[in-house]
Amino acid sequence: MRLRKKAWAKPLLEENTFYVKDSSFKGKWQYCFENTNPIYLEIGMGKGDFITEMARRNLSVNFIGFEKQETVAAIALKKIIKTQLPNIRIIVGDASSLAEYFDEDEISKIYLNFSDPWPKKRHEKNRLTNERFLNMYKNILWDNGSIVMKTDNVNLFDYSIESLKNNGWKLEYIDYNYALSDNENDVPTEYEMRFRKEGTSINKLIARKGE
Ligand code: SAH
Repeated sequence: MRLRKKAWAKPLLEENTFYVKDSSFKGKWQYCFENTNPIYLEIGMGKGDFITEMARRNLSVNFIGFEKQETVAAIALKKIIKTQLPNIRIIVGDASSLAEYFDEDEISKIYLNFSDPWPKKRHEKNRLTNERFLNMYKNILWDNGSIVMKTDNVNLFDYSIESLKNNGWKLEYIDYNYALSDNENDVPTEYEMRFRKEGTSINKLIARKGE
């Protein structure tokens, strides 16, 4: 989903403490959050329903939402402002620049929720579970860190399983028809709610970083 750029988005982001505007916290995120709690990163945060509710339910975890579209991130920010939760930050950027923001071992979990499928073979490199991205994730994740992925797209899901296996990740959980269990570990995203309403089954996997 592409949104037209809105003029209010940039100023709203820039005047707000939930927005991290540059890479100055690389290697020192504890100073941003003023604690050493684990950090969960959502790549392709969208409009922020997932991260906001997860942060509300898990106050001893810090959440960072990474989103490439400024206007989408600003819509998420409006929701975050309403909560005033201390454990959320957002970054506007493309996942290919993750290494600018995070040092080795800084992240304990990465969420990929309804990532763009990039169905054409020639666009394979853009898929967020392509080897190129998996290597970046491996670098910023803790030794015991994991990726949690949800998608409606079976082709992207199958591709991701193969890509994770080929790159040494341990697949701990694979479900082609994930029934959302309403607990502190998961909440539905905007896309997920739409797909569930249409009766589309949701795929979910959990992969742990290998050696
Ligand atoms: N996670 C949300 C949105 C899914 S749509 C949900 O489940 O409802 C995918 C989102 O990922 C879009 O907002 C898109 O802008 C963002 N995105 C896609 N590729 C990205 C990339 N390389 N880096 C950062 N964000 C990306």
